Amino acid sequence: MPISSFQPPVRTLMGPGPSDVHPRILSALARPTIGHLDPTFVGMMDEVKTLLQYAFQTQNALTIPVSAPGSAGMEACFANLVEPGDSVIVCQNGVFGGRMKENVERMGGIAIMVQDDWGQAVDPNKVEAALKAHPEAKILAFVHAETSTGARSDAKTLCALAHQYDCLALVDAVTSLGGIELRVDDWGIDAIYSGSQKCLSCTPGISPVSFSERATEVIKNRKSPVQSWFLDMNLVMGYWGGDSKRAYHHTAPVNAMYALHEALVMLQDEGLENAWRRHAKQHRALRAGIEAMGLGFVVPEANRLPQLNSVTIPEGVDDAAVRAQLLNDFNLEIGAGLGVLAGKVWRIGLMGHAARAENILLCLSALEAVLGDHVTQGVAVAAAQSELTGKI
Ligand SMILES: *Cc1c(COP(=O)(O)O)cnc(C)c1O
Repeated sequence: MPISSFQPPVRTLMGPGPSDVHPRILSALARPTIGHLDPTFVGMMDEVKTLLQYAFQTQNALTIPVSAPGSAGMEACFANLVEPGDSVIVCQNGVFGGRMKENVERMGGIAIMVQDDWGQAVDPNKVEAALKAHPEAKILAFVHAETSTGARSDAKTLCALAHQYDCLALVDAVTSLGGIELRVDDWGIDAIYSGSQKCLSCTPGISPVSFSERATEVIKNRKSPVQSWFLDMNLVMGYWGGDSKRAYHHTAPVNAMYALHEALVMLQDEGLENAWRRHAKQHRALRAGIEAMGLGFVVPEANRLPQLNSVTIPEGVDDAAVRAQLLNDFNLEIGAGLGVLAGKVWRIGLMGHAARAENILLCLSALEAVLGDHVTQGVAVAAAQSELTGKI
């Protein structure tokens, strides 16, 4: 039997990513492939850089999409800034801080860990104590939006602390970019990475990054070469650099870049602050429905991410069976808990194009149908609806 074309089902993606991709972005992917050094493509690359500067709220010249997923953006930041023997203070309050530690150690650096409970924000007091105790530290690294729990940390305060103690601020913004307030220049972020498939609602596989002038100087003046050839910004800049002469470094994923361009044009047209407001508003509607049903949230209200909602699973409910039924009967994907929260929470994503009223009403009614007697019936959709129509 010959294998036939793959026809994926049409799902509603309300997990931790990838998020729903807008049809405009999917159709951009199908445009004709051209050469990655074609002057027309190079012109589009320049637009992508400008659009990324807007999304990140930065003037940083070194603002580019890495041709690989968010994890590669993470690795690009650590590989370029950490040299063997460097000390890095790493904040961990979920899965991704743990990956930062791995990165530091693989680059030959020393990770000084600041631990907070899963579901809590990074505690600036603990960070300041670590900065005081480790004057040799070169970098402070933290996750702005911890997708494994749904907690938001105070990036502005943490960056100010980093600079006060003469450290570079390295920030994971994979889930925050486009979903909540993020200001690279105003907050003094020195190195930042994100992903295409969360609040930008693009297809997975591209990681926007940006480096401040201070970080760029550090990269240029390294004593040892960057241990990754592919992610070495000194080489990547020959392809993505400021002047119009572009040298071959790697073949950019041409069509994926069309998709990112389209996603960023849509963000520009909506307006960044409007996108932040939309995520907040849709979160309030989801919250109203979830609470009316009798379910609760893990993260305290003040630190809760609108785009990633960790909802507690009621006693006696089979986590995996519920998610399977949502997928099979409603074509709805929500996320499982990770690490210490595995089996205790569902992660409901409201990222980018997924943060829409119709998705919230689908999610609430599907959950109600699947959970039956475990939740209060018949009130969730109305509670969300009144939040959606009542206040803006
Ligand atoms: C998703 C995510 C990543 C990794 O991105 P990939 O595109 O899956 O490689 C890193 N950090 C955070 C906070 C994320 O949510």
